[in-house]
Amino acid sequence: MEFRDFNDARTLARWLEERDENKLDALFKSALEVKRRFRGEGIYLRGLIEISNICRKNCLYCGIRSGNRNVERYELTDEQVLEEARFSLEAGYGSVVLQGGERSDGVFTERISRLVYKIKKLDAGGGRGLGITLSLGEQSREVYREWFRAGAHRYLLRIESSDRRLYESIHPSGPLHGYDNRIKALEDLKSEGYIMGTGVMIGLPGQTVEHLAGDLLFFKKIGAAMVGMGPYIPHPDTPMGASGVRLCPDSSADAGKLLLSLKMVALLRHLLPGANIAATTALQVLAPDGRERALLAGANVVMPNMTDVSVRKNYQLYSGKSGLEDTAQDTKDKLVQNLDRLGIRVEWNEWGDPGKQMPDCILGNR
Ligand code: SF4
Repeated sequence: MEFRDFNDARTLARWLEERDENKLDALFKSALEVKRRFRGEGIYLRGLIEISNICRKNCLYCGIRSGNRNVERYELTDEQVLEEARFSLEAGYGSVVLQGGERSDGVFTERISRLVYKIKKLDAGGGRGLGITLSLGEQSREVYREWFRAGAHRYLLRIESSDRRLYESIHPSGPLHGYDNRIKALEDLKSEGYIMGTGVMIGLPGQTVEHLAGDLLFFKKIGAAMVGMGPYIPHPDTPMGASGVRLCPDSSADAGKLLLSLKMVALLRHLLPGANIAATTALQVLAPDGRERALLAGANVVMPNMTDVSVRKNYQLYSGKSGLEDTAQDTKDKLVQNLDRLGIRVEWNEWGDPGKQMPDCILGNR
């Protein structure tokens, strides 16, 4: 079976509706082959440090939204962040992701600059140190520039849905949560020199395969070099999740959502062969091996959680997050065991960025 020309919304939507197991199996195998050809055999790891759950925003789906009074707020100390970064370095992860709720006050933005600078200095061995991804929401262009200068070079800012109406249906109204701000922030990140990443939720109320096909084309149009897509998992302490919460991993609806997520990964690998595509942790809520299945469908990045166990339970954007009791070492051991079992090779101590020298056609910007 030939897999070419995924560049139109109708073809993508048809694949998202496809139920024939043989055809889907061929699609996943082809995506894995494309991944091997353009990004090599191995996968890349980024140690995820959830620095704080304090957020100024109130997204209707998010468990750490400012309006949720049931969550205990925390902020890791500089020492904790650096300790987790050091663990990532020594574990051979090659990169870290600093993720947290969105804040724009000077105390916060200056602290991030300081932390990024210190993390870059961690490698006493004379290597180039950890690659640093930030995922800290919408900021001014000046702040993005300041963090880039401090040493961060990737930024992940998910759009959650590229369809304006759907986006607006999952966010409060008003300028703080505006769709145009998100688009502008993504453009600013690229202009400031970041390797820019974005992503969406899959299975949102009111979402259609046409929306998802539009999301895939959006990633290509905006020039995303990294993409993280995860299933929408309702959180009970949110307006969207307050009713009808399901957490049964065996329910057909969850199986359907998992399959849809795998299709999205495989289609995106064909559309953006050189991109970094994350196998997101949320997939594990739907199936214990959900993340590994995404790797076999074309994803090539995993972000093992480094966050201190004492606060991990307080960083739940969605419900049912796995590994809440695991230490950083437990997380590493389990991940390595699962990857070994499937014969998936890890590229240790590598940043694993899509090469800047890579021609546009490889990233999909044809
Ligand atoms: S999704 Fe992000 S910006 Fe929105 S409330 Fe959650 S942490 Fe804050």
